[in-house]
Amino acid sequence: MLRTADRLVLFDAGAGPMFQDTAGRLPASLAAAGVDPGTITDICFTHAHPDHLWGVLDDLDEPVFANARCWMNRVEWDFWRAPATLAAMPEARQSFVVGARNRMEAIADRVELFDAGAEVLPGVEAVASVGHTPGHTSFMIHRGEGVLVVGDAISNAVISFERPDWHSGTDQDPGQGAATRRRLLDRLTVDRGRIVGFHLPYPGIGVVEKRDGGYRFVPAA
Ligand SMILES: [Zn+2]
Repeated sequence: MLRTADRLVLFDAGAGPMFQDTAGRLPASLAAAGVDPGTITDICFTHAHPDHLWGVLDDLDEPVFANARCWMNRVEWDFWRAPATLAAMPEARQSFVVGARNRMEAIADRVELFDAGAEVLPGVEAVASVGHTPGHTSFMIHRGEGVLVVGDAISNAVISFERPDWHSGTDQDPGQGAATRRRLLDRLTVDRGRIVGFHLPYPGIGVVEKRDGGYRFVPAA
């Protein structure tokens, strides 16, 4: 979550209660932090997989972040809504398409589409990181020390770092995903920049170091 003078920004909306039994705890976590979901002004989406998008609806299909503008890469938005996408998707992942369309319908009147490279919000830059999905986007927050919200472009705490060129079964285009991972990791070690990753170990924020021909994630203390 990014708090500025006049905005309260979420990066992705979590899975909500309909994806996995162990998921759907974002509203409780926000409550613990004293944040009313109705006060979220913006949500920046890295991509439209269930654990990042489905949390925009609660168990009664009511909007959770009812006042938030929803920022999504135009390519990502178009991909999931395209008629050909459902037919081309492996059967095991067809529910991803149906679920994404359902949530996109629910936020359609609040969505703002952007192109890679855009400054989505003041100090928040959309960085193309395609491969995991066709319009996957990371967000560089140019505030304070700065931090890159990587989304699922770097998702496994060990393999993504030690063997970034290995193809990941969760990337829709594994070759492109590997190339993106290598490019991001190179940039991060040069910049000594911090990252936030949704699937990285607690606290999910840290830096990247070079090690033994690969890389290593160093969680923040
Ligand atoms: Zn994903």
